[in-house]
Amino acid sequence: MSYSNKENIDDTQILIDQEEVLEFVKQMKMMNKQFISQIKQLIREKEEYKFLIQELQCQLQRKSDQLQQQEMIIQECELQLESCRSNYEEQVNRLEAELKLNQMLFQIELSQQKQEIVDLSDKLKSTQQGYSTTVATSFLQTSFNQKQDSLFKDSHTLESVGQTEGDQSIMSNKNKGQRMMLKIMQDPISNIKKQKELIKREITQWQDEFLKKEGRPPSFNDKQSISTKFYQYTILKKQLNDRSTIIQDSTDCKNVGLQCNLIDASQIIQMQELLRQKTYEIRRLSFQLEDLKGKVKVYCRVRPSNSSDKLKDCEVQFIDEQHISLKQKMFNFDICFNQLSTQKDMYEEIQQSLQAIFHGYNLCIFAYGQTGSGKTYTMFGTKQQPGVIPNLIEEIYAYIKRSNLECSIIVNSLEIYKENIIDLLNDQQGSQSLELKENLNGQVFVQNLTNIKVQNMHELMNLIEFASSRRKQGLTEMNDSSSRSHMCTQLTVETFNKITQQKFISRVNLIDLAGSERCNKSRLKPNQLEEAKFINKSLSALNDVMIALSTKSSFIPYRNSKLTYLMRDCLGGNSKTIMIINISPSFINLDESLSSLQYGQKVKQITNQPIKNVEPVEQLKKLQKVCSQHDESAQLRQQK
Ligand code: ADP
Ligand code: MG
Repeated sequence: MSYSNKENIDDTQILIDQEEVLEFVKQMKMMNKQFISQIKQLIREKEEYKFLIQELQCQLQRKSDQLQQQEMIIQECELQLESCRSNYEEQVNRLEAELKLNQMLFQIELSQQKQEIVDLSDKLKSTQQGYSTTVATSFLQTSFNQKQDSLFKDSHTLESVGQTEGDQSIMSNKNKGQRMMLKIMQDPISNIKKQKELIKREITQWQDEFLKKEGRPPSFNDKQSISTKFYQYTILKKQLNDRSTIIQDSTDCKNVGLQCNLIDASQIIQMQELLRQKTYEIRRLSFQLEDLKGKVKVYCRVRPSNSSDKLKDCEVQFIDEQHISLKQKMFNFDICFNQLSTQKDMYEEIQQSLQAIFHGYNLCIFAYGQTGSGKTYTMFGTKQQPGVIPNLIEEIYAYIKRSNLECSIIVNSLEIYKENIIDLLNDQQGSQSLELKENLNGQVFVQNLTNIKVQNMHELMNLIEFASSRRKQGLTEMNDSSSRSHMCTQLTVETFNKITQQKFISRVNLIDLAGSERCNKSRLKPNQLEEAKFINKSLSALNDVMIALSTKSSFIPYRNSKLTYLMRDCLGGNSKTIMIINISPSFINLDESLSSLQYGQKVKQITNQPIKNVEPVEQLKKLQKVCSQHDESAQLRQQK
């Protein structure tokens, strides 16, 4: 219908319309072209983005692979750490158990020792309160032998504890090693931590990059994978922190363990001190026991080296307080004093006999040894370092004062020089011969010897000083002032006990023997050679007496020399006796030192029978008479 209408439209109009259409088509074509090229550009861009995303995904994959690897390493480390820690704990536990066991054993041993000592001292007390001395003595002897054995064992235990301590120190070193190991283990972990931080930073960077390139925030999937990773990191971080805490705890534990070890060590030291005290107590009890039995006590003292020793020291070894060894031979004495011992140390061991003097027991202290070995030093000492005699006198007077006793002391002093007795308290000795006699009680005394009743300590000290200044001395190679005679100072102490109304009389013999010496060694002059022969002869007589006594011979050759006859009471007789063996440390004196030690060993076997001298004996009456005569003659001399 419309075409039929068209027949009515003019031709120009149609032409215009055609042109417009053509233009429009043209424009459309152009637009289509542009559109196609735009589409193509968009497709290209799309491809590019696709590629970029793929690359980023690859990166992500790589990172997650890396993380997985790290996780595996961490797990491995954790396993190693775990095994290390359990090893560590095991060792600490074992150590603690061992230590506890040792402690327990030691504690038990010590408490047993303590109990035994208490029992022993109770028994000793009861013995003193009236038991038969012999029965108690033999019982105490057995107990003491057991005691000493167990003490030896004790010291071994201590040694082994020391060993254990040593082991522990090895263990603590081991533990140090383990700590080192732990540190080595911890180091890679901290490395991993660092790497983790690095990866964390990288991911944040990658996230930013993603945002820049994509122009959009990472997708949910991206975000999820990242947050999963973060979550895993957090867990890992926590685990690592926990691990470090465990390691720290176990290190702390170890430190506590080490502190415990230190505490244990101090306990061991305390126990050692306790043991030392117990040993001292036992020695004291043993001294009392030996006293009860009447054993001659033998002390050994080695003097320090001096310029006259020339050669090097011989190797005297002090095994313990009672044992000394020389040339691989062991000697046992009541106590041994080393080169560092002082006069006070020496006197402390003598002091224990002080009380006996006031209970009527005779006491004899004598020094034996070669020339220059320190006999005179030990007995008399010097002004600065007083020896046994001045110390004993001081203590006697201090005791009298302290106990408010009524005491009188009479002194005499003599020397035996070339087998002659010389009165050292009488410088005008007349024709009266000084002979050894026996009184009614069978006690040996020197007839006509000056006896002086002293009024106080100073008078007594002065008299003894006077006597020792008169003693024969000479210069030998071995000693600048060698004593050439035996010197014996005797104190007669009479004590009146006001409570019991008893009188005790005690004789205290203090003897400094002349030194034995080899005649060629001392380079002696002819006169000195003769002196030496007498000295050696009397000392060999003393030796014979010792041998006879120690072998319990029926005949004791006391009368073979004046020295042995004078000392009869002190050796095998009625006296408490202490012999001090003096030793020179010099190598050239090794043989003499050995023979002195052997000599001392023999004397240690001698048993005396000390008894209380209660009533004033005949001898004392005589002494008092002699004293008053002496006083009268002294007065007469003064008047003249
Ligand atoms: P001995 O009487 O045995 O012949 P001495 O007592 O005269 O010997 O001693 C010899 C030297 O050694 C002396 O000079 C003395 O002072 C010194 N001496 C001895 N023993 C000791 C000692 N324990 N400490 C210091 N010096 C000592
Ligand atoms: Mg001397």
